[in-house]
Amino acid sequence: MIRKIAILLLVPAVGYVGWVIILNMSGGSGGPAPAPQRAEVPVPRPIPLGRQEQLVIPVSGVRPDQLSDTFDDARGEGRVHDAIDIMAPRGTAVIAAAAGTIEKLFDSRLGGRTIYIRRLGGQWMDYYAHLDSYVTGLAEGQKVVQGQLIGTVGSTGDASPEAPHLHYAINMMAPGESWWQGRAINPYPLLVRR
Ligand SMILES: [Zn+2]
Repeated sequence: MIRKIAILLLVPAVGYVGWVIILNMSGGSGGPAPAPQRAEVPVPRPIPLGRQEQLVIPVSGVRPDQLSDTFDDARGEGRVHDAIDIMAPRGTAVIAAAAGTIEKLFDSRLGGRTIYIRRLGGQWMDYYAHLDSYVTGLAEGQKVVQGQLIGTVGSTGDASPEAPHLHYAINMMAPGESWWQGRAINPYPLLVRR
């Protein structure tokens, strides 16, 4: 008699747990997701920095121990650097840190001759500035592979002619953002890790 009562109590309890699991699963996949109502509903997040592909140092012949972290340096007019400066003689080869598509070739007062390359997947934009020259034939829409020659180091824009360097930045792009947008992340730890 006691065992029978126990079973009668157990059956609806198992049934309830089963329904809770099914309801939770159906909310998390497929179709346009309803607005999250609980903290445990998965929210799409940017790829963690540590899981970016391994980058190559975008100036030919420069070793990791020759880099210095200038990401947080002040740059006047209330600006922060938000990039790394890689010092090298004028004319040194600038190569693509990662594969991607050239989204914009742009001449600006501060950056001088610049290249914006959006990586495969669209979430990261690599920015190369103060170039002395573009490699011949470089064009917007062109795909580049990692390590491909894209230009040469210079001091165009707001850079000292006595200290040619590549100004290299990585911007994290939200969906729909254009080449001049994004949020800078520090390239230094990504370039020195091995
Ligand atoms: Zn710089």
